[in-house]
Amino acid sequence: MVEVYLEHITKIFGNVVAVDDLTLRFREGHLTSLLGPSGCGKTTTLRIIAGLETPTKGRVYFDEQDVTDVPTEKRDIALVFQIPTIYPTMNVYDNLAFPLRVKGLSKQDIDRRVKEVSELMGISHVLDRMPSALDAGTTQKVALAHAFIKEPGVYLLDEPLTNVDPVTRIELRTLLKEIQRKYKATMVYVTHDQTESMTLADYIAVMRLGKLLQFDTPEKIYMAPKNTFVGWFIGNPGMNFLDVTFDQRKGALIGEGFEYRLSEEFKRILAEKNATEVKLGIRPEHILVKRGAEQEGIKAKCTLIEPFSGDRKILHLEVGGMELKAKVSVSLDVKEGEIVSLEFSPEYIHIYDKAGELII
Ligand code: ATP
Repeated sequence: MVEVYLEHITKIFGNVVAVDDLTLRFREGHLTSLLGPSGCGKTTTLRIIAGLETPTKGRVYFDEQDVTDVPTEKRDIALVFQIPTIYPTMNVYDNLAFPLRVKGLSKQDIDRRVKEVSELMGISHVLDRMPSALDAGTTQKVALAHAFIKEPGVYLLDEPLTNVDPVTRIELRTLLKEIQRKYKATMVYVTHDQTESMTLADYIAVMRLGKLLQFDTPEKIYMAPKNTFVGWFIGNPGMNFLDVTFDQRKGALIGEGFEYRLSEEFKRILAEKNATEVKLGIRPEHILVKRGAEQEGIKAKCTLIEPFSGDRKILHLEVGGMELKAKVSVSLDVKEGEIVSLEFSPEYIHIYDKAGELII
């Protein structure tokens, strides 16, 4: 397997900076997801790794080798796109056998490998069918099998599950993870779907406007987003942010009509950084909502209740003129218009500066 290293990559199309000075290491044997909103430069980055685009600036390395000027067909990669690309005039068996024939493998070896991979992907029963006779999910399974059969150094996957029906999507997600683990494959996986990223990836690179905002494990991205965009983008709903002022004398964050007392560590760090105007970040699922205004905690008015899932609902809360969302159990019997008390456990809060960068 291969490690991919992008060094200060910039890609400019006309007056659009699609990728902006991106330095990123895709670790060998791991699945790294490029995640971000539409237009953030994910696909362009993948296409640069594939050699389908030439960077305006920067270099691409596969292990120690500079492959920036190496054409796609000479790179040790397999590509899988959202729209599966398989040869329409060959049956599934021949589609899978084709790259092995090009490599010059013997008939027996080709047969053994096609059987092995088609069993793994659950497509043994369609080997004699033509692509036009397959549904979308099976077609994508064939495209993935086509990638696996080549045993490349790097797998490049661009939204491969987007066009697949929800049931097959979950099945394929699990299968992809199993195969990636089993073969210790280096995979680059482009998606705008955070659930896909969080469940599949060993590492996530969150991008926005061509820039890398955070590269970390899914846990770190979720628990300690480096800036407010990542906090908001990851999570359903995303992280809440309250505009507050740090009062050093009181050792508290002050908002309109509320005060939040900080731990010694938070006080020390905010004082050291001379922070005053800051944002308090907390995830909806980490807010403890207590019925009744007389209880201890920050007072909030419940303005709307939104069903979420069988066991959870989203409370829209108004705190000092700002809106917060809390994800709570459906059994919490809060009514719209009711005043509730909120607790933010210190281990779940983060403080961001005015520009939205993480302080602590
Ligand atoms: P999506 O999820 O919508 O595909 P993305 O994050 O993959 O988005 P890219 O497709 O990499 O983003 O596009 C990044 C930016 O570069 C966008 O503004 C896009 O319009 C622009 N862009 C991409 N390819 C080209 C091209 N060939 N010519 C001109 N502009 C391009």
